[in-house]
Amino acid sequence: MRYVSTNGRARPVAFREAALRGTAEDGGLFLPERIPTLAPEVWEQDGDVSFAETAFAVARAFFANDFADDELRAIVADACSFDVPLVTLEPSLHVHELFHGPTLAFKDVGARFMARVFAHLRRDTDAPLTVLVATSGDTGGAVAAGFHNVAGVRVVLLYPAGRVSQMQERQMTTLGGNITAVALNGSFDDCQWLVKRALGDAGLRDRLALTSANSINIARLIPQVFYYVHAFAQLSIHISSHARGRALPVVCAVPSGNFGNLTAGLIARRMGLPIAHFIAATNANAVVPEYLASGTFQLRDSLRTLSSAMDVGDPSNFARMLALYEHDVERMRRDITGYSASDGETLAAMRRIYARHGYVADPHTAVAYAGLERYHERHLAARVTPCQGIVLATAHPAKFPETVRAALGIEPERPARPRACLDHPTRSVPLDNDFAALCRLLDENDH
Ligand SMILES: *Cc1c(COP(=O)(O)O)cnc(C)c1O
Repeated sequence: MRYVSTNGRARPVAFREAALRGTAEDGGLFLPERIPTLAPEVWEQDGDVSFAETAFAVARAFFANDFADDELRAIVADACSFDVPLVTLEPSLHVHELFHGPTLAFKDVGARFMARVFAHLRRDTDAPLTVLVATSGDTGGAVAAGFHNVAGVRVVLLYPAGRVSQMQERQMTTLGGNITAVALNGSFDDCQWLVKRALGDAGLRDRLALTSANSINIARLIPQVFYYVHAFAQLSIHISSHARGRALPVVCAVPSGNFGNLTAGLIARRMGLPIAHFIAATNANAVVPEYLASGTFQLRDSLRTLSSAMDVGDPSNFARMLALYEHDVERMRRDITGYSASDGETLAAMRRIYARHGYVADPHTAVAYAGLERYHERHLAARVTPCQGIVLATAHPAKFPETVRAALGIEPERPARPRACLDHPTRSVPLDNDFAALCRLLDENDH
């Protein structure tokens, strides 16, 4: 399997090069040259199937020529060593909890897979690899945890100073060792822009063996396909095989910022997974819903919202969405409906899902829930076939205790794990929003 650039002006490359480069020579993002199909048996399961088993079947469809089966099985088993349960709130409404990994956000799967893949790809080299990451909060923690103590890799995380939650900051700044956290005096878009510029700088890239761990990296994007397939594997346990053909069509509501998660869903669908429709659910940063409505893509500065991990004004994976639909907005509209929630609507959705189902959703998940509700309303009004919905739950509510308190007046239950890092000393390096300053920091740090 080879990987091609969304800009179409770079030569196709093997997985190894696509993963270690991060972005293509022409500045585009990598996509598989053709998307493999998956046998329906992978998700049409009649018994319990573990996440690692589903994930291995999907990984094999992509990477059979890049890794021996036993190596790939070990990488996947290690990366996917926690549950991603599908919680059924009512017969036609499910919440897919992607947040049971070490940092309590869905990015753990991609980050853990990628770290193990990098270690494997670099096992015969001495020169350390530098992984440069822009984060609005959750990516940084997931990448830090995923790569901590991975030999031969150092990680530099850029986050917008003062714009991440306390727990997110701790997850990035307490590990130390091969993890350097940088507090940028700017927005997430500034962080992302600096990373893109560094990756586009051939001299710097070669000198430091630089790559990225954002969802622009294909090695982080593909593992996100795993859990869509696993959602269906769990869904089909509930549906007896003779009823399967008559099951209601499935709509996935995806809380979106950089649209990596949604793009992974689009890839899962092209592999054959019967997802009927997607809801691209955003907060006030609504450039993609606006594109779907108007056909025009207009970049904006990011706005700060309660669902801060989705505060993105220039979503990087939009280039992949355009490439997958060959820039045809009409075709994209057939598969994806946009939705944008204000902070007020987000809090109201948190209250409704709690009142109706006793379910405590974090603000990101609540945005997707609100998007699904809106979709159902429109659907009912139009009298078309009913559907069942899967809300992708991207963060544990305990990551956003202030918002849960404000919406519901309760304290979210804290899982035992993240407490560990609360006592450790934090360390981060302040940085101005300036490319030359970033280059100095990278060079100084290189030993
Ligand atoms: C990163 C993140 C998102 C957005 O995911 P994208 O793939 O960037 O669209 C949504 N929710 C949470 C909690 C996140 O951490």
